[in-house]
Amino acid sequence: MSAISAVEEFGSIQLESRKSVMYRTASANLKAVAERLSLETSLYERLASPRCVLIVSVPTRMDDNRVSTFVGYRVQYNVARGPAKGGIRYHPDVDLDDVIALSALMTWKCAIVNIPFGGAKGGVACDPTAMSDAELERMTRRYTSEIFPIIGPERDIPAPDMGTNAQTMAWMMDTYSMQVGYSVPAIVTGKPLEMGGSRGRREATGRGVVHVIEEALKMLGRNPAEQTAVIQGFGNVGSFTAEFLRDLGVKVVAINDVSAGFFCPAGLDIDAMVDHVRRYKVLRGYRQPGAEEIAADGLLSLPCDILIPAALGGQIHKGNVGAVKARIIAEAANAPLTPDADAELLDRGVTILPDILTNAGGVTVSYLEWVQGLQSFFWTETEVADRLRSTMALAFRTVWDEAERRKVDLRTAATMVGVQRVADALHIRGLYP
Ligand code: NAD
Repeated sequence: MSAISAVEEFGSIQLESRKSVMYRTASANLKAVAERLSLETSLYERLASPRCVLIVSVPTRMDDNRVSTFVGYRVQYNVARGPAKGGIRYHPDVDLDDVIALSALMTWKCAIVNIPFGGAKGGVACDPTAMSDAELERMTRRYTSEIFPIIGPERDIPAPDMGTNAQTMAWMMDTYSMQVGYSVPAIVTGKPLEMGGSRGRREATGRGVVHVIEEALKMLGRNPAEQTAVIQGFGNVGSFTAEFLRDLGVKVVAINDVSAGFFCPAGLDIDAMVDHVRRYKVLRGYRQPGAEEIAADGLLSLPCDILIPAALGGQIHKGNVGAVKARIIAEAANAPLTPDADAELLDRGVTILPDILTNAGGVTVSYLEWVQGLQSFFWTETEVADRLRSTMALAFRTVWDEAERRKVDLRTAATMVGVQRVADALHIRGLYP
């Protein structure tokens, strides 16, 4: 039976890996870095294979009483440095290859910020924007039950990602707790404050993005107050990045989301945009004197100092990279550049702040939330923010120094730092049995 007919036969579960761009990029990067680090072949092979891949069916009763069957994934990539850790994505494009690639990136990311976690990722192929809250709750609870055998506060700790949020984590925590018979707040991070979430978690990824930009500006000798920024995506990461950039003195001149985009040379009113999205969910319909509406492809080519993709992967590619004018690209989203675009921008001398460093603030505060949950002792927002700042600044300096020492770009340097730390842990632990 061919792979295609097998897929048809068994419904929408993806039986054969299609090797997406993100997957091929992640594995090519690992291979190149393993060669630079002169890792032994056997160690490289262990690093190149996910530890555990789980594919589950998620039958869900919809509001009209029909049952829709979604496909869910949980991949634990590597646990040499600690429990698996990674977000849960709800998006129509979620597939096995991307989940494996994202779980590998999570592994290096946790190692770069030096927190004691391995890497994981999960998701359900669905369109959360077309589902009611009740449908999302039923789907989340069923998905959690299906992946229950491999998750746990000491084993694998989910968190929010695209299309999921604190409410999703509350449903996951409740479902897990019901199955074991007692409350287990540390099973997820990114929870609501009321049930053991951490102060500062919601803002953490955006705050971390801005710490990395601030450190990079220092190294490049640039004054934040003289920089302009453009942000693609205005969800959790994009909106907090906009707020903290404004607080740093950077002028945010353009922002878009899936519904609309706005450009204002004098600077956008971030608070008004956040209010608009709180009320209407998307930016469509936003009005500000002096701001004009711009098309999605126009946004990426606007003249600016810092371009921040904070939406989906693969947004800057061969077809549009030629028009990008920014001198700094801060990858707030995961894998927003295709390899072609990455290579071309590096050739042009653009500073690319790579995703595995730049958006690591979220998992850093997830770690702080997990620690607070395990000890049932909670910190103030200032304590959390201070720890995040020092962690991001140290990670940035480590990566920057590695790039200078090895004469490589920042993505290669970051991956080298992360992969070396995971390889060291694997080596020291040895091979069981
Ligand atoms: P989100 O769902 O809160 O927001 C996504 C935003 O992107 C929305 O504003 C949406 O309208 C917009 N968008 C979608 N398609 C778009 C398009 N084609 N053009 C412009 N905008 C578009 O998601 P998020 O949590 O903000 O995550 C954004 C990115 O950051 C993802 O790549 C995610 O993996 C990554 N990330 C998130 C976290 C976190 O803590 N949330 C941590 C690390 C990395």
